[in-house]
Amino acid sequence: MKTEILEINDESLALAAKIIREEGVVAFPTETVYGLGGLATSDKAVRAIYDAKGRPADNPLIVHVHPDYDISSLVETEYPYAEELRKKFVPGPLTLVYKSKGKVSPLVSAGLDSLAVRVPSSEGAQKFLRAVNCPIAAPSANVSKHISPVTAMHVYEDMKGKIPLILDGGRCSGGIESTVVDVTTPTPLILRSGLITYDMIKSVAGGCEYAKHKEGDKIKSPGVKYKHYSPNCKTAFFARERASDAVEEYERARREGFDPVVVCDDAVGRTLGVRYIGLGKTSEEYASNVYYALHLAEAQADYVIGIGVEGDSQVDVGVMNRLSKACNKEE
Ligand code: AMP
Ligand code: MG
Repeated sequence: MKTEILEINDESLALAAKIIREEGVVAFPTETVYGLGGLATSDKAVRAIYDAKGRPADNPLIVHVHPDYDISSLVETEYPYAEELRKKFVPGPLTLVYKSKGKVSPLVSAGLDSLAVRVPSSEGAQKFLRAVNCPIAAPSANVSKHISPVTAMHVYEDMKGKIPLILDGGRCSGGIESTVVDVTTPTPLILRSGLITYDMIKSVAGGCEYAKHKEGDKIKSPGVKYKHYSPNCKTAFFARERASDAVEEYERARREGFDPVVVCDDAVGRTLGVRYIGLGKTSEEYASNVYYALHLAEAQADYVIGIGVEGDSQVDVGVMNRLSKACNKEE
């Protein structure tokens, strides 16, 4: 299959809508990362998404709709605080997990009775979702366990020959995946951290908890148990206070013939005296740059050494989660 990359315009949107109607798969940009979209009501389309990604069938997908889509046709919107969260943060990088009405393919929820729904804020995503005007199941448009894509070329590297069309909306601004929040319980539960933080949710909903997974628990968000986001090469991860060990590892690797690069925040990078890719100076910059930097690192080096970022922002929780999972093979 030939994979086309097209700018977003009336023509490419008409083509995207046609492919979606025919139960095919289209990659599209959002403000977080690129998504791999298919008709959520079609078993065939959803299966094609899992196949293209090589994603385990027990890891559910998020359904994406445009801002005027009536989500009450898809889910039970039980708790009033969920409405408050929607008023404040939707459209945006927030996915809410509701009790499903069973209106989409059961493959989307991977056997759970819940359904995750997101309304992206980016113009490209909304144009695509309006053009198709139906719920679109979409995980990140990377091969399972590889780094999430934040440019059309990142998608192309993983998806060439597997899907017919990538809509190119430039580089994603947010840079990390949406915050996933379970709203089926009296207090909202963060299943995955992102740019909408614990404090932001708590200030609107009155309460908020992080989901904790103890051994033997039924996992609420199966995605979190999988290793994610990894460069296709050797990796290592060091906490920020162990930056000197990271430099030692860098030097040792070079003596062994590797061509390593360090990924870390700018302030630490400047002190190391080694080749590094800087994530920026603020938490928002770290988030926006983390996947882009990991893609660059993978292209430039054969060994990626991550050093933890550490600011006072809760966005750093989400960035650290991505960076440590990417670079820590043990996790
Ligand atoms: P990705 O598609 O790569 O952005 O990952 C989607 C994330 O949302 C994964 O961590 C999933 O486990 C989570 N997710 C999707 N649907 C549900 C659901 N119904 N209940 C809980 N978590 C979900
Ligand atoms: Mg993903």
